[in-house]
Amino acid sequence: MDEYQVVVVGAGPTGMMLAAELTLVGIDVVVLERRETFSLESARSKGLHARTLEVLDQRGVVERFLEAGTAAQVQGFGGIRLDIIDFPTRYNHGLALPQSQFEPLLAEWLDELDVRILRGREVTGISQADTSVAVSLADATTIRAQYVVGCDGGRSTIRKLAGIDFVGWDASTRWITGEVEMERTPEFGLRGGGGIGPAQDGRIGVTLTLPTVEDINEPTLEDLREALIRVDGNDYGVHSPHWLSTFTDTTRQATTYRKGRVLIAGDAAHVHAPLGGQGLNIGVQDAVNLGWKLAQVITGTSPEELLDTYTAERHPVAARVLQNTMAQRALTAGDDRTTALRAILSETITMDEPRKHLAGMISGLDVTYDLGEGHPLLGRRIPDLDLHTETETIRLYSLLHNARPILLNLEPADTRIDLTAWIERGLQYIDAIVSDGWELPVIGDVPPPSAVFIRPDGHVAWVENSNNDDLKQALTTWLGPPG
Ligand SMILES: Cc1cc2nc3c(=O)[nH]c(=O)nc-3n(C[C@H](O)[C@H](O)[C@H](O)COP(=O)(O)OP(=O)(O)OC[C@H]3O[C@@H](n4cnc5c(N)ncnc54)[C@H](O)[C@@H]3O)c2cc1C
Repeated sequence: MDEYQVVVVGAGPTGMMLAAELTLVGIDVVVLERRETFSLESARSKGLHARTLEVLDQRGVVERFLEAGTAAQVQGFGGIRLDIIDFPTRYNHGLALPQSQFEPLLAEWLDELDVRILRGREVTGISQADTSVAVSLADATTIRAQYVVGCDGGRSTIRKLAGIDFVGWDASTRWITGEVEMERTPEFGLRGGGGIGPAQDGRIGVTLTLPTVEDINEPTLEDLREALIRVDGNDYGVHSPHWLSTFTDTTRQATTYRKGRVLIAGDAAHVHAPLGGQGLNIGVQDAVNLGWKLAQVITGTSPEELLDTYTAERHPVAARVLQNTMAQRALTAGDDRTTALRAILSETITMDEPRKHLAGMISGLDVTYDLGEGHPLLGRRIPDLDLHTETETIRLYSLLHNARPILLNLEPADTRIDLTAWIERGLQYIDAIVSDGWELPVIGDVPPPSAVFIRPDGHVAWVENSNNDDLKQALTTWLGPPG
């Protein structure tokens, strides 16, 4: 029987990102994917938000995505545009890049990292024992692993097999969406619970609600034609669909992201309407939160309880996304009263604070893990500052390429604790000066810290104060006890 430290089920965006994260820190991982190839349709994610670009930058691979996509203000709330041009980040924009292009680029990185992806392998069963999990496949083979992570999408087999509840709201609406050609070009804009606009290669993208929420197995051109006539009274001579599909606003979240040696991430842990374009983004970020923690538990440097911080930190992030997509769904209802509400909200969003609040949420730049009271940096993502060391100027994110934590010392200090145990485990101790001010998206300027501890996912877990024990506690919590 083949054995790995981790089996990742599903080679979608979440599974691939997790496999990369685990490989970077030396974990032996295999990805099992039931599809033989990528899906070529671009029906799903249209692009990346700023925090995902930052996360890819932290791993040194963002350039290939930037080259393939188009930098744009992609943020919106219920179709109302949100600009982040004034946000203090290198990525004060999003990236228009269809999922059909995003996934092959991620796979290319995995190839470079030598990650094993076994395609055409469907997982059908799991059986947990004290120290391992046996994973059964449809081809009657079994693979053993210390941990299994279900990144197998909204209908997750792994979540169901682990007995994790998926609670929330059933669909209220089904949309039809597709890329088509038309003899007459319609007016582009929002309507019919969705909208019509330009798509790839001169095609036209259409997303409109259907009269039934019931699943229609294979949507047809006729379904789209009827939807166009219902909304615009005209089918514009629609023809030659490049692809067609449907989706709903089913909104559900797993009650926990871990049961013993089985974890879930991405759509397997949370589904919602694609309003605001957040699903893929938070899946990738789940992976970045989980990878290094799982690695430390596997290598025995941290106790198993570290894995509980994965649910504790990522569940609230997705819960907020579920809430904001439900609110956005309400805003797209299209009746006169909702249209009045939209008009008021559109006016409100022209004001700086409401815009920043919503844009921080949708772009993922405002994510704050609850790591206690203290400095505003605590729990937030570290900005990508220029660090001036004795010998060079480097970008902070370049120090995170190998997913190694950092203790950043910004003022002379000779009374701190002995770091040897953690440095042997990969902690980078960096003496540097920062010449820029410290500004966070949404929050604004924050007091310059004299030292910070940055986890491998780029979140700040300790900011210096007068109590040295705090640093020891933080390093013990996140990198394991010194012994
Ligand atoms: C219409 C639409 C528009 C969207 N737009 C956006 C957007 O603009 N921005 C955004 O961020 N998100 C968007 N999303 C959401 C985004 O597509 C998903 O959140 C994202 O694909 C989730 O990635 P994942 O890897 O978690 O799951 P998936 O992409 O679903 O991947 C799961 C993988 O697991 C495999 N699998 C499943 N079961 C098994 C099994 N038993 N054994 C082996 N393999 C298995 C599947 O074949 C699949 O490859 C949109 C979704 C839709 C429907």
